[in-house]
Formats: sequence, C-alpha cells, structure tokens
Amino acid sequence: MSVPRQAMGDRLSLLGTGDLRTDWTQEEAAAIHALPLPDLIFIAQCLHRRYFDPTEVETASLLSVKTGGCPEDCGYCSQSAHHKTGVKATKLMAVDQVIEEARRAKAGGATRFCMGAAWRGPKDRDMGQVCAMIEGVSALGMETCVTLGMLTEPQVERLGEAGLDYYNHNIDTSRAYYPEIATTRSMDDRLETLALVRAGGIKVCSGGIVGMGETMEDRIAMLVILATLEQHPESVPINVWNEIKGTPVMEKSRPVEPIAFVRLVALARILMPKSVVRLSAGRHAMSDELQALCFLAGANSIFTGDVLLTTGNPGRGKDFSLLEKLGMRAALRPVHEDVCDDSPAGVGLRPQSAPPAPTVEAQ
Ligand code: SF4
Repeated sequence: MSVPRQAMGDRLSLLGTGDLRTDWTQEEAAAIHALPLPDLIFIAQCLHRRYFDPTEVETASLLSVKTGGCPEDCGYCSQSAHHKTGVKATKLMAVDQVIEEARRAKAGGATRFCMGAAWRGPKDRDMGQVCAMIEGVSALGMETCVTLGMLTEPQVERLGEAGLDYYNHNIDTSRAYYPEIATTRSMDDRLETLALVRAGGIKVCSGGIVGMGETMEDRIAMLVILATLEQHPESVPINVWNEIKGTPVMEKSRPVEPIAFVRLVALARILMPKSVVRLSAGRHAMSDELQALCFLAGANSIFTGDVLLTTGNPGRGKDFSLLEKLGMRAALRPVHEDVCDDSPAGVGLRPQSAPPAPTVEAQ
C-alpha cells in the first residue's frame, strides 16, 4: 500500500531544519516509534548522517574500579549489597592498576575509558584517588568517563578540575516505573545529579535499561525525559537487561523483542540527533544482524572488551570482525569531533577524509 503524499510529508518534516528540540512530548515520541520501520530507519539515518559519519562506531572500554557492596537497592544490579548475587565487594583499585588497564584498552582500539564505582556516592576521602585516575587516563590521550553515583557540587568541581570529560548517571527507566526498580533513590535524585554535572561543565552520559518488566510506554518515556533535559546528554547508553540471578528484576524481566529494540534505538537517534547512542549491556546476546540493524537505526557506540563491570560482553575480536563485515570501523578519535552540522537538512555528508577501515589483524 502506498503512503499518501501528505502523510509522508509529515514524516519527513521530522528531519526539520537542524535545530535540536528539547520540547518533545510522549505522544510525539510514541507516534515516531510507531512509524513504519522503513520510514523510521530512513529518518533516523538522515539525522545520523547529518551529525556523524555513519560508518564509524565509537569504542569505549569500561572498568569496574570498585565492585560490589553498594548500599543502593537497584533491583537490576549484581553489585547491590541488598541482593545475593555472589559478587564479592572489593576496595577502590590502585591508580597505577587503573592506568595500566586504560593503556591496554587504548592498545585495543578504545578511545574512551569509563570507570565505574559501586557507591551511592563517593566519599570525599576517595575523591583524590578518583581524580588521580582521571588525570592518569587523560594523560594517555583517552576521553575519560566516571560513574560514581550521586555527587555534591564540590565533588563535581573537583572532577571538572581533574579534567573529566563525561559523567555517566543513567536514569534507568521511566518516572512511573522507577519505584519498581529502586527504593533507595528516586528519579528526582538522578536528575539532580545530572543537573549538577551539566552546570559543572562536564559532558553528560545518561541512558537506561530495557527488559526489566517495563512497558513500551515506559521505554519511550525514559527517552523523552532525556530528550527534554535542558541540553541532551552527549552520550545515551541503551542497555538490555542481562539475566542476573539473585536480583529482584530477575522475577519481573521480560525479553526485549529485537525489532522493538531497533525502533527504540531509532527513536533515541531522532529525539537526540547529535548524541552518541551506545549499545551497552546485553549486546553479547544480540545477533550480528540485530546489531547491524541498530547501527542502521543510528547507534554509533559500543563497549569493547570481554566484561562490562560484572556481566558479559562480546570479545574485541568478534566486534572488529563484525564491523569489518559491515564495512564499518572503530573511530580512531572521539566521534563528536566529526560532527558536521552545517550539512543540508536530511542529507548529512560524512567527512571525505576518513581513514580506511582497520583490518581485524590490525586491532
Ligand atoms: S548505585 Fe550503581 S552499583 Fe549501586 S546498586 Fe545501583 S546500579 Fe548497582
């Protein structure tokens, strides 16, 4: 059945003039999410190409610098002290050890190094050690990201002074579903820390998790919250919940239908066209075909390495082999440097001087 001209015109109007919108409504987002898949992917692709090289994927590496024993009760997390998941609590890693891991990640092709600590928030006495990690990793020429839980204003200042590039603080799910997944913190707590980070001049990395028993409406609402922040997060990780025995979410989780996931990635790309959209946890269970569809829908970042904090991840070789099959490549520098927002509406051009794709062996 052919799409009436008027209806197609309405769809293409989503390409807009290039202005970033922060006034999206749930109804608009739901209508975009429900578009016929070819239209949805086409619009997401046009916007992706306006701001990024669609053949490049950012590769980030994630290290747990302090694992387990967390006082928060996030129902999806293996590191909460409230759940019996078998994860052993550790102390904050030594700075040298962290820098060595970052060096290894850089040699493996990662351009961003993310460090996660299982805390409700950092203690002031830990800040010196964390800042030394940030300074050490920055000195390797990598982008830095940390996720430490809730922050105070002076802590944000210290992280900024240490040269931190990104702060990760996920909003996890919708406001309505939030009480189902955590009781020791609220959506407002999350938004408060995000506002402090933004005000402190640090780039924001914030996304969520799907597959925890939430509805499609919740998933869309989560993206709408991010897309209506005063400024979109520069990075939007979308996680698919991993089965973790011993967590409360294990009882309520439901598998995420793959095409519904692709639609969500496309929606994130359309609502926040200039943000890096990252396929995060759960990627190890995705087929090559699903990942390829996600890249077509606008995903342009992955975590590389065998583990993500405490859960599995495809190995580096598998990732680079997939990118090679797709004629894509790992970005050799932060993908935001490639942003080309002066291209005509809807027909973004990727930079012509892009280097050739590295071979699997070269990684
Ligand atoms: S705050 Fe982070 S580490 Fe702690 S339970 Fe929640 S998700 Fe896990």
